[in-house]
Amino acid sequence: MNEKYLKSLSEEEKYILRDKGTEKPFSGVYNDFYDAGVFICRACKSPLYESNTKFNSGCGWPSFDDQIDGAINCYEDLSGGRVRTEICCAKCDGHLGHVFYGENLTIKNTRHCVNSLSIQFKAYKNLELLTLAGGNFWYLDKLYRNLTGVYLLHVGYMGGKIEHSTYEQVQSGKTNHSEVVQIYFEPSIISYRHILSVFFNHCIYLNKKLKLVNNWHKPIIYFNSKEQKEQAENLLSNHSAKASCLATIQLKAETVFFRAEEQHQNYINKKNV
Ligand SMILES: [Zn+2]
Repeated sequence: MNEKYLKSLSEEEKYILRDKGTEKPFSGVYNDFYDAGVFICRACKSPLYESNTKFNSGCGWPSFDDQIDGAINCYEDLSGGRVRTEICCAKCDGHLGHVFYGENLTIKNTRHCVNSLSIQFKAYKNLELLTLAGGNFWYLDKLYRNLTGVYLLHVGYMGGKIEHSTYEQVQSGKTNHSEVVQIYFEPSIISYRHILSVFFNHCIYLNKKLKLVNNWHKPIIYFNSKEQKEQAENLLSNHSAKASCLATIQLKAETVFFRAEEQHQNYINKKNV
């Protein structure tokens, strides 16, 4: 690594990026972190990974299933008596971690296992966040994941009393959580109004299909601003005039979001059902 990239680094960052060290598992700030933005190299500030490629592999280090084009160089690594593929920043050659293939964790079947100390997160400021509950979250995920203007999407739990509930706990109905989808979208490309109109059609479909809805599947729009609340109220009252079943949709202030287990993320596409 060129000296100019080392100047601003702490000793522990140099240990990882220059000396190819590894931080302790589950110790890094980005291990359990899923905000919307880009991860850049901590040494040279070059963009490396989009946050919509980040997933929870359970390994204890930030995991990504794709890189920004041309951002990463790969090298054969025979250290420790194993054959692995080292990954380094293509611009400054700083050590990031290793890449593994064929683990079947995501559709791309790739895991870039990266030290938190090698990267830095920069949040995207142009995105808006919206959280919805309505039926099984696998289907909400499928409904929104590929819409143009939706940058990032997670399924998870909101509104209950127990922190970090499991899927089984939520399904028992005892935690009071809703199954939700949390959508980061770009309002200049897709409007809040459009996202809600898709949601209303989904709720009309659910109402026809399911007569008994579990508590954790009840339709709720979680708002996180006064503007979102007012817009949702107006849209809901307009649409309810045409479809009375929509009057059962509740409006609630957003509470803490707990990301669901990785197997539930992008579930329908992964299972190809
Ligand atoms: Zn770099």
